[in-house]
Amino acid sequence: MLNDTHRPDLRAWVTSANDGITDFPIQNLPYGVFRRRASDEPWRVGVAIGAEILDIPAVHRLGWLDGSTNGAATTCASGSLNGLMSLEPDDWSALRRSLSDLLRHDTPTGRLAHAHADAVLVSQADAEMRLPAHVGDYTDFYASVFHATNVGSLFRPDNPLLPNYKWIPIGYHARASSLVVSGTPVVRPLGQVAGEGGGPPRVARSGRLDYEAELGLFVARGNALGSTISIDEAPDHMFGIALLNDWSARDIQAWEYQPLGPFLAKSFATTLSPWVVTFEALAPFRVAAFARPAGDPSPLPYLADAGDQAYGGVDLAVEIWIRTARMRVEGQPATRLSRGNARDLYWTMAQLLTHHASNGCNLQPGDLLGSGTISGAERDSRGCLLELTQGGKEPVSLPNGEKRRFLEDGDEVILRGHCERAGHVRIGFGECSGVVVPANTSTY
Ligand code: MN
Repeated sequence: MLNDTHRPDLRAWVTSANDGITDFPIQNLPYGVFRRRASDEPWRVGVAIGAEILDIPAVHRLGWLDGSTNGAATTCASGSLNGLMSLEPDDWSALRRSLSDLLRHDTPTGRLAHAHADAVLVSQADAEMRLPAHVGDYTDFYASVFHATNVGSLFRPDNPLLPNYKWIPIGYHARASSLVVSGTPVVRPLGQVAGEGGGPPRVARSGRLDYEAELGLFVARGNALGSTISIDEAPDHMFGIALLNDWSARDIQAWEYQPLGPFLAKSFATTLSPWVVTFEALAPFRVAAFARPAGDPSPLPYLADAGDQAYGGVDLAVEIWIRTARMRVEGQPATRLSRGNARDLYWTMAQLLTHHASNGCNLQPGDLLGSGTISGAERDSRGCLLELTQGGKEPVSLPNGEKRRFLEDGDEVILRGHCERAGHVRIGFGECSGVVVPANTSTY
């Protein structure tokens, strides 16, 4: 599954891609939708390379991409990734190979592009990004057994993990319209919260606003209504991954969630990182699926596949950083709250996708499947404040002395992700960030 585009010795003519610390070396090549900031240029698909963006429609117009990529490159002028996602894995692979050739310092097309860099590069600092795809439907799963157990023990101390958890990937239909791209402010929600001592509920600004660090899987080719996607075919329907922050209002959630699950506690905003890292780029970092402890059931046959068990996991570290308003004023950098890894997810991405389509539900290119909060066994791998502070009982202390039980207005939450493995070049996901701004109380 590895090919020339993964070779660790490749170097780009874009020097910032070769510094050893960038999230976007030539081995990554994630896609995003951009235009120059404050311009009325058309939105278009580019590929991140170091601190720059390669403008794919520009290099296509100049005739510098391999002819076999014509169909794929044409979709990149459309202003979303949906067209590219709807193609075949061979099409994605051909485009990646051609982009890699074009960005290498030692190829004829690379030398040509380097000589005309001004015509085909836009600095990321000069670009604005939008959501990478039109998301028709968004579903959020609950794939970390550590998160499910920790949260379950707070909401239901005597019965933390419900008996279905190890048999069926749990999810709910989430809200696509309030997906926002990294950098968009997040307005603290108002909502009904339980009254004191069993009294009537009141409408209030959420006082228990939280983040959830997750991955967002972008569905590629879909399935027809009434048909399914087998587990061995699932990888052909998976385009790539972005970072996802499933902002959550715990006080609203606690009052509303039974019996039908999350609703307004989640639908006020979900933040996505702008760059989609493809599964081809992730190939060097695939690992075995989570090892289920002895005594846990094996997945039912429709969710069991030898290849998925051997390579269906991904060794992907997800970090959560916070920068409060005071830290910004005082010029202090963000500080890390925790660090989890997607290899700890109980269900693989392929299992989530196959399960989603198993009743004949039609998935479509650009649909988004959230992994659920990524938590591990260790305390410092808990992917939300609800877990980290034990429901607010144990506040976390920040380096400047501030404490947090839940988020305060002005707090910026930043998710970062990366994959590292000996013998391969580290790749990253960029940032998924949002600043909490005060509630809009005009509807009181
Ligand atoms: Mn979630």
